[in-house]
Amino acid sequence: WPSVHSGSSDSVRSSDSNPEPGAYKVMLVGDTGVGKTTLAGIFGGLKDTFPHEAEHPEDTYEIDLMVDGEKTTLIVYDIWEQAGPHTWMQESCLEMGDAFLLIFSVTDRSSFQHLPGLLLKLRSARPHRHIPVIFVGNKGDLARSREVSMEEGRSLAGMLSCKYTETSAALHHNTQELLEGVVRQIRLRKDDVQH
Ligand code: GDP
Repeated sequence: WPSVHSGSSDSVRSSDSNPEPGAYKVMLVGDTGVGKTTLAGIFGGLKDTFPHEAEHPEDTYEIDLMVDGEKTTLIVYDIWEQAGPHTWMQESCLEMGDAFLLIFSVTDRSSFQHLPGLLLKLRSARPHRHIPVIFVGNKGDLARSREVSMEEGRSLAGMLSCKYTETSAALHHNTQELLEGVVRQIRLRKDDVQH
């Protein structure tokens, strides 16, 4: 595997699956059309972001975030669908992530109904790990086509011990907050393990 220059700094990053100590991998998971790529593009447009790998600049983003006075680097992967169902690649997505955004569209009930199954896959791939999982109801701007209420989303997430939030990629609503929430969740779990 060749090493690549990130372009933004003096660091040299390799493109293997464990590129950088201290950087956390965030996986975007969910059905086709729920808005994963749009959200990834917004994350990618945040300040201090640059393509992570020269070979796949369009689906992997490295983001430096200042949260509560401390810097954390997230690497966001929008590769779930490329991986295709039932493949080793999907399996490796599940094994690789430090946090998971299980994304559905509030206008597409079936995308919501698929979340428990996805979570089950994740938990069977990572049975001993306490990993942050956030259910994300996207397309909150499309109020008139809504098929899943916020209460219902929140209640399912709560039952399955996951966090819940809603976004609108179209309006850039709650997107930065979502990433900050991911960082806080990762830090909390880390503290759990250490103490
Ligand atoms: P993916 O298949 O999960 O990667 O979904 P995409 O990011 O390709 O989005 C599918 C479609 O939904 C595109 O036409 C997007 O423009 C649209 N879309 C994504 N997020 C939103 C949103 O928050 N609101 C609205 N109204 N449309 C959205």
